[in-house]
Amino acid sequence: MNLEDKVTVVKSISDKSEALLAKLNIHSVKDLLTYFPVRYLDTSETVTIEDLISNANTESDFLIKANIKNFSSNFIPGGRTIQRAILFDETGEISTFWFNQRFLANAFKLHKEFYFFGRIKQKGKKFVFYPKTFEKVVEQSKNIHLGRIIPEYRLTSGVSKKTFRRWIANLVEKIEDLDIQDPISLNKEEVITALKNIHYPKDYQSLDKSLELLSKYEFVNIFLRMHYSKKKESKAIKINNPDKFNTDNIFKLIESFLPYKLTDDQERIIKEIFKKIKNGESINQIIQGDVGSGKTIIGLAATTAMAMNGFQSIIIVPTTVLANQHFNTFKDILDKLKITVELVSSANKKTSSAQVIIGTSAVLARKSDLITNPGIIIVDEQHKFGVKQREELLLPILKKNTKVIPHYINLTATPIPRSIAQIIFDGVDLEVIKTKPIGRLPIKTLLVAENKREDSYKWISEQIKQRKQVFWVCPLIFESETLEIKSAEETLKELTLKFKDYKVGLLHGKLKEGDKLDILAKFKNQELDILVSTSVIEVGIDIANATVIVIESAERFGLAQIHQIRGRVGRGVDQSWCLLFYSKNITENSLKRLQFISKNNDGLKIAEFDLLNRGPGEIYGTQQSGIPNLKIAKLSNMNILNEARQIAKQLILKKIKSIPLFN
Ligand code: ADP
Ligand code: MG
Repeated sequence: MNLEDKVTVVKSISDKSEALLAKLNIHSVKDLLTYFPVRYLDTSETVTIEDLISNANTESDFLIKANIKNFSSNFIPGGRTIQRAILFDETGEISTFWFNQRFLANAFKLHKEFYFFGRIKQKGKKFVFYPKTFEKVVEQSKNIHLGRIIPEYRLTSGVSKKTFRRWIANLVEKIEDLDIQDPISLNKEEVITALKNIHYPKDYQSLDKSLELLSKYEFVNIFLRMHYSKKKESKAIKINNPDKFNTDNIFKLIESFLPYKLTDDQERIIKEIFKKIKNGESINQIIQGDVGSGKTIIGLAATTAMAMNGFQSIIIVPTTVLANQHFNTFKDILDKLKITVELVSSANKKTSSAQVIIGTSAVLARKSDLITNPGIIIVDEQHKFGVKQREELLLPILKKNTKVIPHYINLTATPIPRSIAQIIFDGVDLEVIKTKPIGRLPIKTLLVAENKREDSYKWISEQIKQRKQVFWVCPLIFESETLEIKSAEETLKELTLKFKDYKVGLLHGKLKEGDKLDILAKFKNQELDILVSTSVIEVGIDIANATVIVIESAERFGLAQIHQIRGRVGRGVDQSWCLLFYSKNITENSLKRLQFISKNNDGLKIAEFDLLNRGPGEIYGTQQSGIPNLKIAKLSNMNILNEARQIAKQLILKKIKSIPLFN
């Protein structure tokens, strides 16, 4: 078995399973091996049935090791079946039951001793055990679902926890056969132990050690990739007649077309960009500004400068909805400057001659060249690119024989602590917009418990009466497409009933592009009062009259994401509100996180809090623009980051190009 082999070489992974795994981006053996748990469940301690009973009604789960007697399976009304049994050990017995699990008869016939995991409740004088899961006891700690520290993975519908663990276990069992190279310590054993322990930790101590080792390797790989892709960097664009390039003029021109005055930071950054262009310096920068800080105009200024000097610009955005919005914003001003602008899609094949081209990242996948005379590429809020360098990113859309590499600007709301940026984005400038446009009131964020839902509806009605508009965001659970649509649709139904006097619309990622734009246009024109949406509205949408945003099951979102979503309001001069609805069974930790964000409006503080309070590879982890999409390492771990940088330097001397496991 090789790391690059198709995942179907792993025992019990069928062709059908392969398609399901593809949804999780798992294609190869390596992908599966580095698909790390999002959390662990410690079931290494068993209690006796006697102890279990003394813990009745504690709402905690317990693990028992028991035998089974008196198993029965019977039909009950409604076409269902019930399975009853008595579980016993040397200290006592307890009754239990399941619904619709007829296959248990066989399982229990074949084996004697099982682990059962669940909670116990007192019913009158009797005690009943409610098992959540069970597994037969296997010798030599070969259990994979219970009886030890158990991994939990982010999964997709169609793959059960147990099935996935079986696959992982099958792979881990064969790990010694894998050709895992370790260019760092040349100690293959150590890596193998770490990989075993990351999936099935012996104990928490070895888990920590493995996390550290693998994090280090992942960082090293990032540094290596950055190093080798940077070497390819070519010359920046030279302006032919720099003396003719009068930036002062351009600046005043743009400003004269704006309905507002630029903030100090906007002005400073735009002027710096102009200066660099004029001096023939290469622009390679990330411009970070909190949501609503006005990053778009900086992109617009840069494109204007390019157009006036005979170069084309391309703006790449994450969604078609945003492409459209930017197209309109840009066209308004560029028309006046007699600069041509065009919206392109991945479908139109021909080269474009417009001076400014706007499209989604789908255009990057185009086979044909898009522009002939590229001056600058601006990427707005794109998290998919990870650490890819601009050359890698841009190659497909540039004319193959272009000798120069266009300037590059990445606009992002993702707060990147400077210390991290300096390490990760070696050679990339980071500009920060600190000031927001004047007259903006901070958004007020409130936590709303389920029992306050009705009250909040009344309050929302009042807001709509005052001609305010409302975003209503539903979670995207585990990125499952079916669930995404369902929950938003259900909310639409509910709200249509609750808010009879008002118009409610729905926007989600699975709508046809045209329909998305229609809905959004209606909302913008105030033909809709409430817009139910999934997190597709997360990025970029700019509608100043929307002053209320509701986020359902807020605990399912990462804090950075909530902050982004919340930034859809607070874009005008009126007070804006964000209501975070949370579920009844929210954990203490989740509640703490939501309380933090309700009291903080500073994206950087929020990101740092999130970084520090996140578990290994957590689902809402690092899918943030610019920051590499990490499988396991945490950017907050500066020690490992620094150590990895030193290791990478050594490897570069030895001409080692990557850590295969993470590449
Ligand atoms: P983001 O940084 O989130 O991309 P945008 O560029 O979409 O923010 O700007 C948010 C809103 O603020 C837009 O409606 C924009 O027209 C407005 N805006 C931008 N700069 C200023 C400014 N200096 N003064 C007032 N409003 C501004
Ligand atoms: Mg934006």
